[in-house]
Amino acid sequence: MINVFQPSLGDDELAAVGEVFKTSWIGRGTKVAEFEEAWAAHLGVGRSHVTSTNSCTEATFLAMELFGIGPGDEVVLPTVNFVGAANAVAAHGARPVFCDVDPELLNPTVEDIERCLTPKTRGVLLLHYGGRPGHIVEIAKLCQERGIWLMEDAANAQSSSVDGKAVGTFGDISAWSFDWGKIAVALDGGILYAKDPAVTAEAAKRAYLGMAQSSGFSEAHRTQTRWWEFEVSSFSRRSIMNDVQAAVGTTQLAKLRDFVKRRRLIAEFYDSAIAEVPGLRTPPPLPDGHESSYYIYWVQMDPAIRDAVARQLFDEGIYTTFRYQLLHKVDAYGSDAVLPSAEKAAASTLCLPIHQALSDSDIGRVVDTLARAVRDRTHG
Ligand SMILES: *Cc1c(COP(=O)(O)O)cnc(C)c1O
Repeated sequence: MINVFQPSLGDDELAAVGEVFKTSWIGRGTKVAEFEEAWAAHLGVGRSHVTSTNSCTEATFLAMELFGIGPGDEVVLPTVNFVGAANAVAAHGARPVFCDVDPELLNPTVEDIERCLTPKTRGVLLLHYGGRPGHIVEIAKLCQERGIWLMEDAANAQSSSVDGKAVGTFGDISAWSFDWGKIAVALDGGILYAKDPAVTAEAAKRAYLGMAQSSGFSEAHRTQTRWWEFEVSSFSRRSIMNDVQAAVGTTQLAKLRDFVKRRRLIAEFYDSAIAEVPGLRTPPPLPDGHESSYYIYWVQMDPAIRDAVARQLFDEGIYTTFRYQLLHKVDAYGSDAVLPSAEKAAASTLCLPIHQALSDSDIGRVVDTLARAVRDRTHG
């Protein structure tokens, strides 16, 4: 089976995990600090702006806590979205307000966001669909003008930028994921970035039981006090990464540039090969100055054949999917929004396999099988 997403883990990661085992310390320690440092350097920001978590979802929940949203507040987010984003808003008693997206890009435009702003809007929780920066520059400007916060869920965008500025550093808070399905993985884990280092520090405290100071070995060396005593500044959960995860994450981060390079080649191959296939539309070209992480590659076709094409590909050993199910259609969020562009996109889009382990013959097979599946249904 050719997978749609797949991590590239091997001897390097096993060796990194082995090193951690030898230290007999697998909890949060020096490896986590190294990973945070490496991620900050990757973003081109100071170390004090980032802290790690056990997942991107948890970082998003923490962010909503830090923004202080509650009942009566609204947060605008695209309906083509990961379920955890809307859960983080709703769990704090605020209302997720789902906005439409550009039907070809699956990212919201400034107008899509603007149309949803009301006096109750506290912030915007943006996703960079497929790893493309989208309209981040304009949306950040809009949020600033309106005096509302911007959070970037940059899980799709580990290595994306606009004119050299890393995606995830445009908003007030951002989060990345390193779960099994992302480009660089840490088995599980997340990074939270905040523009204000004081917010990062507060997030770090809340990610570890709301403890007002560090504890353990390092603190024992530093202080003459009883290091097992602590103060609590918030009633928080335990949402931290450990050294095993971080060692894998740092090893993967060193390969991220190569992973993305391979994914770009695959996307370019798909772009040119699929352009020849009648009935299929490839994603619009990237604007000048934009770098994508190529996390998702998608094609669009007649909605009447999309599901049957996906089924045929599956039967022939090629796994495709659609990301992400429209959240305004999920009953639990109680939305009555009508979002025609997103609905059109959700009916016509199919996400193809894209990951760095795909061989040239794999991607050739994807295109040939896809072309045949579409041709069979277009010409009877
Ligand atoms: C994977 C993903 C997440 C969730 O990340 P976890 O680390 O698994 O919590 C959130 N948002 C988007 C857009 C994702 O792709």
